[in-house]
Amino acid sequence: MAKKIIKKSWAEPFKIKVVEPIKMTTREYREKAAKEAGYNTFLLKSEDVYIDLLTDSGTNAMSDRQWAGMMIGDEAYAGSKNFYYLWDNVKKYYGHPYFVPTHQGRAAEHMLSKIMITPGQYVPGNMYFTTTRLHQELAGATFVDVIIDEAHDPYNEHPFKGNIDLKKLDKLVKEVGAKNIAYISMAGPVNMAGGQPFSMKNLREVYDFAKKHKIRLWFDATRATENAYFIKMREKGYQNKTVADILKEMCSYFEGLWVSAKKDLMVNIGGFLATKNKKIYEAARNMVVVYEGLHTYGGLAGRDMEAMAIGIEEMVDFDNIRARIGQVEYFGKQLEKYKIPFVKPIGGHAIFLDAKKILSHMKQDDFPAQTLAAEIFIDSGVRGMERGIVSSGRDPKTGKHRYPKLELVRLTFPRRVYTQAHIDVAVESVASVFEDRKKIKGLKMVYEPEYLRFFQGRFERL
Ligand SMILES: *Cc1c(COP(=O)(O)O)cnc(C)c1O
Repeated sequence: MAKKIIKKSWAEPFKIKVVEPIKMTTREYREKAAKEAGYNTFLLKSEDVYIDLLTDSGTNAMSDRQWAGMMIGDEAYAGSKNFYYLWDNVKKYYGHPYFVPTHQGRAAEHMLSKIMITPGQYVPGNMYFTTTRLHQELAGATFVDVIIDEAHDPYNEHPFKGNIDLKKLDKLVKEVGAKNIAYISMAGPVNMAGGQPFSMKNLREVYDFAKKHKIRLWFDATRATENAYFIKMREKGYQNKTVADILKEMCSYFEGLWVSAKKDLMVNIGGFLATKNKKIYEAARNMVVVYEGLHTYGGLAGRDMEAMAIGIEEMVDFDNIRARIGQVEYFGKQLEKYKIPFVKPIGGHAIFLDAKKILSHMKQDDFPAQTLAAEIFIDSGVRGMERGIVSSGRDPKTGKHRYPKLELVRLTFPRRVYTQAHIDVAVESVASVFEDRKKIKGLKMVYEPEYLRFFQGRFERL
């Protein structure tokens, strides 16, 4: 007899041991909360949020093993045993021998930018990340986006939209000279392009190019495990390799890397810098003492480093990463049923709603993505964030708004935190706002901080 049941469902490779109650509120309550927060989801009180899809940064659920690890924190000022365990795991899984812990990713970016950049130099990268680019600019560099054009098209289904365009890179090198390139800054999956990975083939080409021109190649490996998973699923020749093997191969092409442990490593705080270059390591080890703390804790407690070390072992587990990316995919597939436009292919950590298309009656100066994020929160208590003109900030030379091609609302999935039922509620809320989209008007900015304005900017309804 032919089988009628098709087994295609997967479930998380864990069960729930501890729960954290969340508050359900009324629309009226949320209207008031949104107004008080200046229609900026970053300024909402977390306790007023029902399902928090603001970010996956530091919002992950740690495992019982990680929590147990917190109890064996060695809080010695110098040389704690957790530091050595973490260092061993960085060597083992990322493959770089030198290591400096930092309190989070941007601290590593700050040090690296200061060490590597001579003012006036250029840093090409595959699109940009907010804190990464800011630290490069503060150190005196000009950032140049060399990602492939497909990345700027939200509906292009290219499987590796995080790839670097070698022609763009070559053009830049010809224009400014290899000596004026501080380093190539590569990240993957690329957050601002919709969580899109780069391929190993592209990385190898960039590596060859960099080597030929004697340009340094550095890796923002914050989400590298997700990139490794996509390579395994999509790139020829990698199906039978483990996520750990792919991660290590990726890292091997770089002179060094930095990581925000608040993502892949599934902890609440932490970061690090790792490299093969002893000189850069020594410079970073000197600098960490000034800005972060001694080089064996870098602003972290011993227990945090223990949880990070365990997180590295858990992040490369195939079932774990499949469930993480599978949840994002499930969300996307549900949205498709309502014909809601969002960035394709479905990314690694988040769904990026196309606010430009959804609110096509609005001008970009009226902040469509900022508006859409506020409306979704008011509708259901689901919190996302703006990734558009507000996040892009102002051009440091002209002082004018940067007008990004994409105007997106990011709904990001913390790791191991929400269930499929939460996802269903969030999908229905987005669908309901989408249905009423024509009634939505924009916002005006009434307070603008100098740096990273999306965090603290305030708005009023038009
Ligand atoms: C989060 C993140 C950073 C910055 O790290 P923090 O820990 O937030 O300081 C840098 N790059 C990427 C790709 C990130 O996702």
